[in-house]
Amino acid sequence: RIVHVNGSFLPEESASLSIFDRGLLFADAVYEVTAVIDGGLVDFEAHQQRLRRSLGELDIAFDPEAEDLLGIHRQLLQRNDLREGLIYLQISRGVADRDFVQPRGTPPSVILFTQALPLLEAPAAARGLRIITRPDLRWHRRDIKTTQLLYPSMMKSTAVAAGVDDVWMVENGEVTEGSSSNAHIITAEGQLITRPLSHDILHGITRAAVLDYAAEADLEVVERPFGVAEAQAAREAFATSATAFVTPVVEINGHPIGDGAPGPGTRRIRERYIARSRERLQY
Ligand code: PLP
Repeated sequence: RIVHVNGSFLPEESASLSIFDRGLLFADAVYEVTAVIDGGLVDFEAHQQRLRRSLGELDIAFDPEAEDLLGIHRQLLQRNDLREGLIYLQISRGVADRDFVQPRGTPPSVILFTQALPLLEAPAAARGLRIITRPDLRWHRRDIKTTQLLYPSMMKSTAVAAGVDDVWMVENGEVTEGSSSNAHIITAEGQLITRPLSHDILHGITRAAVLDYAAEADLEVVERPFGVAEAQAAREAFATSATAFVTPVVEINGHPIGDGAPGPGTRRIRERYIARSRERLQY
């Protein structure tokens, strides 16, 4: 693979960052993952907007437009001949001697790489996800997309060790989100229930798009929290993320959702999402 580090494109074997990078020592870094289908970028502008917000919240001085991140994304697509998969982008506060006080004026470290993955025909989309629930023990600014991913990584590993696909995290009796996805249910009345935006969850780009297209899939959007029992009793459940798109959830804590197979509402919204994304790809 050809990757990008601080303005240079080079083979991944030759790419390196300082051991003093704040991203490594303090997870003092933000990131974005943009899906690629048909050789084009999905929802690039929305990811840039969220990136600007995350950088602002952490006071990391980096201007995505001035640095032509779109141009770098395009070059990486071309150089790696990527048709389907993702582009990962990470910006840390930069390199400074280790100190809890954040340094001022350090040039941010910027890295990007691609991963080729089957997204459109992902096995999980056909099969559906089996989920277990665990307490949400993350910090309380989950709306900032930082690389502080230890707990979600532990939870995902716990799920896989338990023979299932993922964890939905729960706080005060209500589902917050998946280890790397937003969580949603569909009621018998055809309502799409999803937790409202706050500091408690990441403001998913896919979540926002799905809410925009819900009416086209005959679903009425209701933004309110829901609990585990309500999710288990729902007609359907699904997760959204940039690379999973809309993926059905078929089991929560051993309890089948609906008839235990991916449902029609989830299928409609996944198809809508993919069709709409294809109309708006950025090359
Ligand atoms: N929630 C968390 C904790 C995530 O890590 C992610 C994505 O990685 C999402 C939600 C989904 O966000 P998006 O749709 O922007 O990928």
